[in-house]
Amino acid sequence: MPELPEVETVVRGIRPDLVGKTITSMWTDWPNSISTPTLEAFEAQVVGQQIQAVWRRAKYIVIELADAYLLVHLKMTGRLYVTPVTTQHDADRWVHVKFGLDTGEELRFSDSRKFGRVYLTPDLDAITGSLGPEPLEDDFTLDVMKARLAGRSKVIKALLLDQTFVAGIGNIYADEALFRAKIHPLRKSDSLRDEEISRLYETIRAALSDGIEHEGASINWYRKADGNKGNSQDHFYAYGREGQPCKVCGTAMSKIRVAQRGTHYCPTCQPRE
Ligand SMILES: [Zn+2]
Repeated sequence: MPELPEVETVVRGIRPDLVGKTITSMWTDWPNSISTPTLEAFEAQVVGQQIQAVWRRAKYIVIELADAYLLVHLKMTGRLYVTPVTTQHDADRWVHVKFGLDTGEELRFSDSRKFGRVYLTPDLDAITGSLGPEPLEDDFTLDVMKARLAGRSKVIKALLLDQTFVAGIGNIYADEALFRAKIHPLRKSDSLRDEEISRLYETIRAALSDGIEHEGASINWYRKADGNKGNSQDHFYAYGREGQPCKVCGTAMSKIRVAQRGTHYCPTCQPRE
């Protein structure tokens, strides 16, 4: 599933093609993609609205309209791109929602597995209100992270995947952050020493920032808005590297299941303690 760096890369790709344009039509052949409101209400409210801004909250793409927010969650296989109406793309065969623009272009939402969702709401908090802080924002400080850890006792990998703890981290960047921090994924959050919390705080931000710099990880379905692959996967320390030598110490990387997710770590660099 696309995580913070992948969603951020899509946002940066579509933003210059959307801001200032007006939505003139809506089409879907799979109404289940519409989470809220009803399809009829969605269409009635979205048509005629000008796009003010495009940004990201956690793994949601937020398209800010004149008096509502159009949100897209890519889930497993979602792709979002802006294109002239007459131009065809490989991903078009899985397009189930489209928005026409006043420029003769379309915003297309391609989604092979159909798990992705679009939302239209005047109240952003109704969708994103329970999410934790944005890990790359200035207001996510080490003290904020310590405060959110206080009083919790949870397996650290599971906690990093919990979107109410901190937003936008998924399986890939949780493994990358824990590897860089030299913390075993099964450690309990309340067993972490102060210096380990400081390291993890830094490595969460570093792993996500590097992911954005490399324009996301195209392991499966994720593609940038221009259809090309990101290359974050070429820079992984941990994710998907089971059996390969650790890039730091040469030990064979291990894979276990944590929180129902395949979890990659170095048994030497990340001791269980
Ligand atoms: Zn190692």
